[in-house]
Amino acid sequence: MYVLGITALGGALFAEDIWPREQWQPGPEPAPEAPVYTYRYIKERSVADRPDDVLGEKQIHAVYVLPSDGEDKGYDTSGAIAVSMESGERWLENQTDGRRLRLDTWNGMLDVSFYRFSRTEAELEKTPGLMYEELRLAGFNTTNKLYAVHYGASGPFCGISESVSWAIVYLYNCGDPRDPFAPQLESFREERTTGIFHEIFHSLGAVPSCAPHKSGESHVSDSPQDLMYNYRLPGPLPDPEDPIVLDFGRDDYYGHGRDDCPDVAKSPFWQDGTA
Ligand SMILES: [Zn+2]
Repeated sequence: MYVLGITALGGALFAEDIWPREQWQPGPEPAPEAPVYTYRYIKERSVADRPDDVLGEKQIHAVYVLPSDGEDKGYDTSGAIAVSMESGERWLENQTDGRRLRLDTWNGMLDVSFYRFSRTEAELEKTPGLMYEELRLAGFNTTNKLYAVHYGASGPFCGISESVSWAIVYLYNCGDPRDPFAPQLESFREERTTGIFHEIFHSLGAVPSCAPHKSGESHVSDSPQDLMYNYRLPGPLPDPEDPIVLDFGRDDYYGHGRDDCPDVAKSPFWQDGTA
């Protein structure tokens, strides 16, 4: 299921991710209500990328996309995507002594675009590459942006990354599909949030082929707690009570300190980074 590509960072960046916990059995309990967020976010929908707060620098632009026949759950205007990205940023701050990735913002709030594909869920499931093609044509093609695509439908995986431009999470494939996408600011537990950050890290160059614990295609083997753990390995799955960590042991893809192996810590996508 993995397709490999080589990037400027030397990492294999095309990865299709299937989460181990995707096999949920329907239970009797009704889906919980989605929360109402007090976090400051843009409540209006925009089909275009709004003017950028920071010009020119590398940044991550969030998009909520639907197939032509997909149900609109308003995750762009409900705050769910803004809260999800912020909860990932807070997790990163905690993991890195205060670093954040540069997100595309408008007036200080996450700029989330909305796009509805001309193709159906069935068509896009067969050929995920059609998503990038159509989004590019729709104007999501700025070279300094990595698009964090939140796809409101099902597909063959929980997430997929392609090159430095695309990180996609399939919102109905990660976690329990009956649950609304309801991330919490102070928690990095929502599987669709960890999913999009996992894919973003693939796009940023994790895990490079020179990493000592590289496993499978662009994952690591040294801890099930690692954001980039290879879930296909036999053995215990991550304990949901254990915190998720960024590069367990700091020796594979973030902050390893070696010059001969790509390091996501040096990515220009960090707020304190430059191209
Ligand atoms: Zn992966």
